[in-house]
Amino acid sequence: MAKPKKSLSQNFLIDKNISKKIVDQTIVEGNEILEIGPGYGFLTDSILERKPKKIYLIEKDINLKKKLIEKYKNNKIVNIIGDDILSTSLSDFKNLIIISNLPYNISSKIILYLFNYKNNIYEMIFMIQKEMSLKFDYKLPKMNKYKFLTRIVSNYNRCFDVSSKVFFPKPKVKSTIVKFKFNKKNIDLNKANYFSAKIFKNVRKKIYNNLDTNIENNLFNKRVDQLNIDELVSIYDFF
Ligand code: SAH
Repeated sequence: MAKPKKSLSQNFLIDKNISKKIVDQTIVEGNEILEIGPGYGFLTDSILERKPKKIYLIEKDINLKKKLIEKYKNNKIVNIIGDDILSTSLSDFKNLIIISNLPYNISSKIILYLFNYKNNIYEMIFMIQKEMSLKFDYKLPKMNKYKFLTRIVSNYNRCFDVSSKVFFPKPKVKSTIVKFKFNKKNIDLNKANYFSAKIFKNVRKKIYNNLDTNIENNLFNKRVDQLNIDELVSIYDFF
């Protein structure tokens, strides 16, 4: 095994029970699965045990990618389709299920990127930093753009926490398995991004100042981080 690369957030899973439990959060059998950052293919093997129709792999580390090509060369179900998830288009997929122990240094960036493909993806099961899993949870107080956008596109659940002992090397932080199930609504993501940039521009200001409006509405006298998610969505629907 080569020295794990910090720059690529390489923390490899080494606990078979956990990888099985991750795969149990969705229905793999007969479906098309995409895995981001498969590494040595530890989680991949647990996915393959559940008989997917196809599995697509995207691994940025060229050496690992070569190892994966070699490892799965006789497996017709496995397809290696790219290296950097952030420059891979998913627009040709339908009902894709994405499973990943994400690289933690860019996990929120990847998640927001994948929101652009919500119509191509059925659901996504991710291992992320516990702290990050809370940032996306719109059921918790203190609104932010992650909670807002997550609510607009999906149903979000934190499934279970994972100890840092199940990785090599051990990350300094706790981890959580989360699930985004995309809704079937037609979402104007440009509008949602524009709105969230505006309303979260200065969280210390009252909402009517951020939105540049003088419309009378009790909610507009609050600060955006004091709202709950339903209140925030009601302002968005009105916007
Ligand atoms: N799934 C493996 C490895 C997880 S570590 C396991 O559980 O053991 C994160 C993995 O993501 C590493 O293999 C790393 O090389 C890869 N990676 C990092 N940035 C990436 C990117 N932008 N696109 C695709 N893969 C990436």
